[in-house]
Amino acid sequence: MSALSPPLRPAAISAALVAWFRKSGRDYPWRRTCDPYAVLVSEVMLQQTQISTVLDRGYYARWLERFPDFETLASAREDEVLKAWEGLGYYRRARSLHRLAKVVKEKHGGVFPQDRDAILALPGIGPYTAGAVASFAFGLPEPLVDGNVARVLSRIHDDATPVDSTAGVKLLWERAGALVRSADDPRALNSALMELGQTYCTPAKPACDGCPVRLQCHATEPETLPVKRARQVITAVTEHVFFLRTRDGVLLEQETGKRRTGLWKLPALPAAHEGKPPPVLMRANYVITRYKVALWVHEAPARQSRWPDTHRVIAFAEIESTPMPAPYRRALSLLLNRGEFRLAG
Ligand code: SF4
Repeated sequence: MSALSPPLRPAAISAALVAWFRKSGRDYPWRRTCDPYAVLVSEVMLQQTQISTVLDRGYYARWLERFPDFETLASAREDEVLKAWEGLGYYRRARSLHRLAKVVKEKHGGVFPQDRDAILALPGIGPYTAGAVASFAFGLPEPLVDGNVARVLSRIHDDATPVDSTAGVKLLWERAGALVRSADDPRALNSALMELGQTYCTPAKPACDGCPVRLQCHATEPETLPVKRARQVITAVTEHVFFLRTRDGVLLEQETGKRRTGLWKLPALPAAHEGKPPPVLMRANYVITRYKVALWVHEAPARQSRWPDTHRVIAFAEIESTPMPAPYRRALSLLLNRGEFRLAG
């Protein structure tokens, strides 16, 4: 920030952002609705999935068609919910949405609450999602801060406080709050802040020349902001599973871990075979949270008289409707289409 920079005025920044957004904001289906359910679904889907995937591959439209409101979602079975989510990954989001729908139905009579504290008390709702639903659905002057907003605010304020530190987080929410409270259209302001981070104020090359808040922004070296404390370390792991096809179907294992409980996968290779595993049929890679996983699919180990209770032969006709994380679905599809394996059982 130059010593000659005028002080930042939230009202001037929010007015410039709202005016720009009204003229140039992108049109998305969730911006055409004030239905808290539709807004919430979009927010949850977009948490770890790109807009193009959610829109172009039809996930958002299909979900709303299948589960159009809290009532329908609350009444659905978990396997139906997980199946509809298949391909989006991070299944805890689907489970959380399902759980939330039940609470809205049971505690709020199917009507989403409008009070921020009541929204925050719902399962799986954090400050960002609460601010998003409160402002986008109800037009309330509630702030939201995501990665884009954090970058934009750090730059406008030319502030190198790490955005992932306690002090940095507090500052960001205060600044986002001051902006949204000074806006005559909280919904447009919050949308504009996020969209500015996706269009002009991008991570590597901010396009300051055409930016709608260039006259207010204090950033001198925007590429250096925001500052973060430490980078997350990606850990490489290898996952050994096996493929066993019987006359009736494929042996699968139901997950019991926290992240993917209830989903089905290719069974883990028993520990006894780790030293001398059966031949590898195929390999694939996928990334989940901070893990880069090399998935090795082996031939089935020697036939066992009894598999663990978590294992079951899923009939060929049921495989398609069985909820399964995408990496296993892809591997299974490849393996079944090869059709070159010896039948067991
Ligand atoms: S002027 Fe540049 S750094 Fe400032 S908000 Fe706009 S794009 Fe970001």
